[in-house]
Amino acid sequence: MNRPLLFLDVDGPLNPYAAKPERRPDGYTTLRVPRNDAHEDDRGPSSRRRPLRVWLNPEHGRTLLQLGFELYWATTWMDDANRWIAPVLGLPEFPFVDFGDVLLQERRDGVHWKTGPLVDYAGGRPFAWVDDE
Ligand SMILES: [Mg+2]
Repeated sequence: MNRPLLFLDVDGPLNPYAAKPERRPDGYTTLRVPRNDAHEDDRGPSSRRRPLRVWLNPEHGRTLLQLGFELYWATTWMDDANRWIAPVLGLPEFPFVDFGDVLLQERRDGVHWKTGPLVDYAGGRPFAWVDDE
């Protein structure tokens, strides 16, 4: 079966990181992830930083699996999404888009930096892209 691809971001679509910190939305669980150098808001050596707080709704995994897409992580978490996010959502391991040298690199033409790698990765197959940017 030739299903369309779903490129899925983590922070924003799954983790409501911009929500008020004292108000975890109903149905969400809290995950604390040791920081690494790929996290966008990092400052200072990782050993001195507090773990990253992530809110996830385990129901979202079930919903994602029912959509009829082939799922791919399209997130700065890259393979860490399989390690930290997927187990909480009850998801199997998915391929992730490796953004390599263009990770977080703004383009002069205003097109989002993930666009090129995602189009290349899809290789002409139909896809949807869910992202908060
Ligand atoms: Mg995001």
